[in-house]
Amino acid sequence: MSIEDDPHAHFATLAIRAGQQHGIEQEHSEPIYATSSFKFTSAAEAAARFDESEPGNIYSRFTNPTVRTFERRLAALEGGETCVATSSGMSAILSACMGLLNAGDHIVAPSGIFGSTISLFCNVLSRFGVETSFVPLTDLSAWERAIRPNTRMLFLETPSNPLTEVADLRALSELAHAHEALLVVDNCFCTPYLQQPLALGADVVVHSATKYLDGQGRCLGGAVVGDAERVGKQVFGFLRTAGPSMSPFNAWVFSRGLETLALRMRGHCENAGALAQWLGGERGVSRVFYPGLETHPQHELARAQQRGFGGMLSFELEGGREAAWRFIDALRVVSITGNLGDVKSTVTHPATTTHARNTPEQRSEAGITEGLVRLSVGLEDIADLQADVARALDAARG
Ligand SMILES: *Cc1c(COP(=O)(O)O)cnc(C)c1O
Repeated sequence: MSIEDDPHAHFATLAIRAGQQHGIEQEHSEPIYATSSFKFTSAAEAAARFDESEPGNIYSRFTNPTVRTFERRLAALEGGETCVATSSGMSAILSACMGLLNAGDHIVAPSGIFGSTISLFCNVLSRFGVETSFVPLTDLSAWERAIRPNTRMLFLETPSNPLTEVADLRALSELAHAHEALLVVDNCFCTPYLQQPLALGADVVVHSATKYLDGQGRCLGGAVVGDAERVGKQVFGFLRTAGPSMSPFNAWVFSRGLETLALRMRGHCENAGALAQWLGGERGVSRVFYPGLETHPQHELARAQQRGFGGMLSFELEGGREAAWRFIDALRVVSITGNLGDVKSTVTHPATTTHARNTPEQRSEAGITEGLVRLSVGLEDIADLQADVARALDAARG
């Protein structure tokens, strides 16, 4: 019996051992199958592989053993039947939409989702007859009002970026299913260690593996997790044909990343929690957004739905953009970069980077003020992070 079939196996064990395959060399660490195609022993075997009457490798656009290890491992961690790995998080979202939607279908999504996802929905899918309506993430009645007879997908991220609002996954899955729509959750911020959307009623989970699954900012990748029909056939069918596939090397890096996921996520939660608490008492900080704070509007929901509160936090500085930029420029440990979910702490100014292409009205509606700063809290020593942030707050106060 393989470990992923053991109903008693725990998360950290699955993260290290699920999907592992052993070759004839008895290697302990997985090799990287750097090959574009696979040989057949006969014409008949080739024919059987191609018509799928016999399982086995064919071509690395859609069958590669190193990629399969990552897929099996992530499926086990999310509690899904199957997983399809993709070349990036965006291609995971594209593949989910192309596999599951048709022209004429309608999506409902929160206005605060990842910027490229908004562009994908508004500028790309719209050209193929798929329309999207945007709603406030935490307003259940707004979701309900936005649903139309042709709504086929509710798509969301929780906690949201950068204001860490938390959506009620159980309530939204019930709403989706009452209208014969699918609930698709981008689980990038929490990872399956902190939140398992499928267990709360979601139909499909998508990931940017680029973030916490890698965890060390090395590779771009993504994944779609769900059942054998929708993901195993429909999404896989799109990937097989269109080819936004994960490279074996990247899959190997992500499988290594998953091995330390539980440990890392506990560390991210611990550091972010400590920093959020401390920031709340600092002069010049008008608000702190972190689901672990008791003052967070969805703190109880986050506690019920997540195993921990995550590594992402944001806060608002008095003094607007000038103060925010002085803060960012005074940091010496924390890096100024757009990536997140890294062992290295990173900082961004959403109003002029991730949300710069939104109009000022869209930004103010979404609560992205000029003084807002987002931190992806890494795994450096908390004393050094706090000292770095304290120095930068001094600079922000001018
Ligand atoms: C980064 C990110 C994506 C896109 O992932 P890429 O790997 O950069 O394509 C999608 N969703 C969320 C929430 C992200 O943070």
